[in-house]
This record gives sequence, C-alpha cells and structure tokens, in this order.
Amino acid sequence: MDIFNFSSGPAMLPKPVLEQARDEIMSLGGIGMSVMEISHRSKEFEKVLHGAESGLRRLLNVPDNYRILFLQGGGAMQFSMVPMNLLAPGMTGDYVLTGAWGEKAVKEAAKFGNAKTIYTSVADGFRSVPEQEELSFSSEAAYVHYTSNETIDGVEFKYDLEAGGIPVVCDASSNILSKPIDIEKYALIYAGAQKNIGPSGVTVVIIREDLLKRIPDGLPALMDYRSFAENDSMPNTPNTWGIYLIGLVCRWLDDQGGVAGIEKRNIEKAAVLYNALDSSDGFFIGHAKREARSLMNVTFRLRDERLEDLFIDEAESLGLSGLRGHRSVGGLRASIYNAFPKAGVERLVELMSDFAARNG
Ligand code: PMP
Repeated sequence: MDIFNFSSGPAMLPKPVLEQARDEIMSLGGIGMSVMEISHRSKEFEKVLHGAESGLRRLLNVPDNYRILFLQGGGAMQFSMVPMNLLAPGMTGDYVLTGAWGEKAVKEAAKFGNAKTIYTSVADGFRSVPEQEELSFSSEAAYVHYTSNETIDGVEFKYDLEAGGIPVVCDASSNILSKPIDIEKYALIYAGAQKNIGPSGVTVVIIREDLLKRIPDGLPALMDYRSFAENDSMPNTPNTWGIYLIGLVCRWLDDQGGVAGIEKRNIEKAAVLYNALDSSDGFFIGHAKREARSLMNVTFRLRDERLEDLFIDEAESLGLSGLRGHRSVGGLRASIYNAFPKAGVERLVELMSDFAARNG
C-alpha cells in the first residue's frame, strides 16, 4: 500500500527526486564519490550549488539585484537573524501576526530591539489574514515582517504584502515555490527547506542587495548575511546534501510547468479537501475562514472532538499518515505541499465521507 504522508515538515519529497538521489548516492555524476563525501570547494560541488541557485532563480524569477543564500539553522534562526541584521537602533520591526510562527518571530525580535506587533488575528483564533488596507505601519519601521502561510493554523495570504517602501520581510517557509510571487515586492524572503524545497537543514534566504549595506558591523560571522553573500553561501561548510536535493527538486518543478503549473495543481488538490469539509454538514469543521484558507495546510476539527483519535487511527490504517494537528492546537491538519499527490487527498476524502456516514 502506498503511504500518503501528510506531515507538515519534513514533508514528502517528489518520488522522482528520491529515485534520482538513490541512484546517485554512491557516485555523483559518475565521479565515484558521493555528493556527501566531496569537498564543498570542489568543482563538482560548485556545479551542484550553482544548479540549486539558478533553479530557484529561474522558478521564482529572482532579479539580478537579489542574492540567493543557503544557510543552516532552520526557519527559526531567521527569527533572530532578521532583527540582528536589519533592526537598527531607534527603529522598529513591525510584525503582522496571523499565527503561531509569527508570534515566535516577534518574540525573538524583541530580544534585539524594538519589535512591534502592528496587527494580530489572535482574537479570532488565527483564522484570518488582514486585507492590505487594514495595515498601517510605523513611521520608523526598519522592516515589516509577516508569515505568508501559517503552517500550524492553516491560513495563507493571497497577495504579496506591500508597505509603501518599507522593506518587506517574509517567512515563506511553508508556501514558497507553491505559486508565483512578485519577488520585487520583498526585501527579504526566507524559508526552511523541509516543506517545499528539499530536506531539513537548509534555509533559503533571498535578499535584495541594498539590504546588505545596512547590516551593522560586529555580528557573529555566521549570523551576518554578508558572510554568506560574499562567500557564495560558504563562509563555512554548507549542508551539501541538502543543497544537492534542492537542485533536484527545482528540476522536478520545471517538469511540472514551474510554479505556475504547480499552483494549478495545488488549487485543485486543496479544493477537493475543502469541498469535503464544506459538504459534510458540519461533521468536519475547517479552522480557517474561507478567504484565508491555506492551499498547503488544511486544518480542521471533527464536530465531536472525541472522535478525532479514532479518525486518525483509521486514517493510519489506510496509509494516510501524519494527520494529527500541531500539538499546540490539536485537531487535524493535512499538509499537502507541492510533492503531495492528488491521489492521497482523494483517499482521505473517501475516508471522511465513509467515517461521517458511520459516525454521524
Ligand atoms: N516558520 C514557519 C512558517 C514554519 O512552518 C516553521 C516550521 N514548521 C518555522 C518557521 C520554523 O522552521 P524550522 O523548524 O526550520 O526552524
């Protein structure tokens, strides 16, 4: 039985990517050594690194005045690096909070400077995202930070936030590469790789070059974006294996018609699941408000929450794995990133309708 893995991350990788990685694991391109065994300064790895970088640049249409960096430390390390690098004394970091990850980001930023929550949807249980017009920014804002897709709560922005010239910083960990975005609206985008880009252990940072000039001197070298920009992402030994896999994922995405092609499939996939929620007569209840529904993380509950464990057990027995919601919020969550096949969503929807008929 095929297992469909709804895990929120690390998440499913495309099967053809895993197959190619398996085939090449002992010998990268016939060199007789694994990509994990060769020097990160070797010609072979240089090709791998530039392949991954140019793949991301092509797919996301990243202009020349932006640098693409590969870091470590996960999405969460960016909660610290962003304010360390960009939050100058006397300025504020404006934070738009639409879920649990944004909350963590602002908390971390407050350790380095004046971090200000300019919007939060906590009062509605993180079910919504603001309209652009609802936001107003501090006059002394060094940047505005938001989370384009809140992985735990399952809410997603449907537009690229604009801040009237204030640099926009975006945590796109759980929806990068899922749809086209206008990079030029952003000053910095970051994303842990383990949902839509590759394995855990690599974080992609896309940063507009002029931001590099604002960074204060004296930061620890590995917390300073300039160290990565000036050293081809290699001020020290990078996650070579992870970067290699990112290159493969990019080529797989090319074969899917790029981000526009995958977006179409993501919309179709999510619609199957949201339609099942909406047509269940309230047996299943979606968490996010309709207009904020994430295409990547579908969060829901059963009307009778006592049945949730039973549902999860039955799902497991049908090869539907990883449906338990985040431990902080409970309920259920189906993470259906780029690599997640539609057939898995269809199997889940069948179970939902059958389970509701038996337990309704
Ligand atoms: N931001 C978002 C939106 C996330 O979903 C996550 C992890 N699920 C993080 C940040 C933290 O990422 P990491 O575990 O790679 O530090």
